[in-house]
Amino acid sequence: MSKDLAIPRNQVERLLNIYKLDEGQKNLIFQEFTKFKPQTSIRQFIKDLSKRIELPEDLLQNFFWFSFDTYEVFLESGEPFNKFFNNLIKSPIENDLPDLAKEINNFTDLRNFFSRMIKIVDFEYYKVFSLEGINQINIGFSNIVSLYLFTVRDNIVLIDAGYSTKYWQNAFHKALNDLQINLKEIDYCIITHEHPDHTGLVTELKRANPDVKICIHKIAHELAKLRKELSENSNLEEKIRERRQLLISYGLKREEVDLMMQRFGTGGMRFEYNEPDLLLNNNDRIVDGELQIIHSPGHSVGHICIYYPKKGILFSGDHILSKITPHLGTLVIPGAEEFNKKNNYENILEHYLRSLDIIDELNSRIILPGHEQIIYDPHERITAIKNHHQNRLYEISKIIENNPLTPLQIALHHFGEDLDQMNKMLAISETLVHLDYLEFQNKVHKTKKNGLLLYWSENLWEKIEF
Ligand SMILES: [Zn+2]
Repeated sequence: MSKDLAIPRNQVERLLNIYKLDEGQKNLIFQEFTKFKPQTSIRQFIKDLSKRIELPEDLLQNFFWFSFDTYEVFLESGEPFNKFFNNLIKSPIENDLPDLAKEINNFTDLRNFFSRMIKIVDFEYYKVFSLEGINQINIGFSNIVSLYLFTVRDNIVLIDAGYSTKYWQNAFHKALNDLQINLKEIDYCIITHEHPDHTGLVTELKRANPDVKICIHKIAHELAKLRKELSENSNLEEKIRERRQLLISYGLKREEVDLMMQRFGTGGMRFEYNEPDLLLNNNDRIVDGELQIIHSPGHSVGHICIYYPKKGILFSGDHILSKITPHLGTLVIPGAEEFNKKNNYENILEHYLRSLDIIDELNSRIILPGHEQIIYDPHERITAIKNHHQNRLYEISKIIENNPLTPLQIALHHFGEDLDQMNKMLAISETLVHLDYLEFQNKVHKTKKNGLLLYWSENLWEKIEF
């Protein structure tokens, strides 16, 4: 078993550092897990282990489920697997575990490897909380998503639909079972935005329950269609060429861009999406008028929050999260940049900030987000997010004061040099969002020189009031 856990071990160690464990504790966990018997319930095992070695249950669960999530993603990523395999799996294994890399040369080897590992894993991982009659179902590990299930005047409403993997389906079914709700009883499924961690189970839900009304904002629907087209269309050469040029103009090296395009060029994974039953607009009232739709462009331009006035509760999707500020850029989502331009959402930070204001005015008591913790102080959280962007604009304008730089250089100054590919993309993307905002306010200049995009400002802009 110790060998079976070789890949996760290396990655899990990074995770365990978050919990600030010492070497002795880490080794203890690895040792203890070798005692797990396939017939035992993983939950019970973790409960007992947690008591015995006095480490939190959450930590131990995370450890276990990390291995599982990794397996799922590999199996579900489907066709473009070879590229995915070489870039994302093979090279990290070669770096970290050269001996193991020799044994794993293709998908079949990898599948065998994980199927040995999977034998030790029980398939469910979910938690259900209830708050004022609203059930929060948390599923996943590396990206825990919260779905919300509750009754409004005899209607059963589900907010968001997680990922589309088998593992997610199983966990969702088990959560419904615990809540004694049948899939067929769900009347509405409201999707906050079109990202794959929020739309995944829609297809399955509709198949099992044709009467369910799938609801999504009309712009999110357009974006979802675009994404599905991209994920199905194998002939993407031209789009990829355009994106490659764009990334080079942001300051990335050609070789690096090639690697990134292989990894992110087509948006990665298979995308499940089903035609909705109800296209939503800002301020629509649905479910007997009890739920109000708030169009909140930002994280996606088709994002909505759902307000439940009777309870003073807002379901915020990814618009407002308790710890992180949601990513606003479009660089990692193929097609999104073009789409936003065409639909006048170029200055996305401005739209995001305005929709924060609108939500602030609702004075909701509680925010139930799509990830992370429940927010009991909405106004404070909104203020903190705004301050964060204000600081970031100030910092960026400081970096480029009379100092023309590429978006990449600005991003590295601002976010630090030590970024992996994915985080480098996100950092550039996030930087561009702020540069666009400054550009719309005529606070920065932009030129192209030798194929590179350069930004600078003549003044240091004091903190901009929103
Ligand atoms: Zn999300």
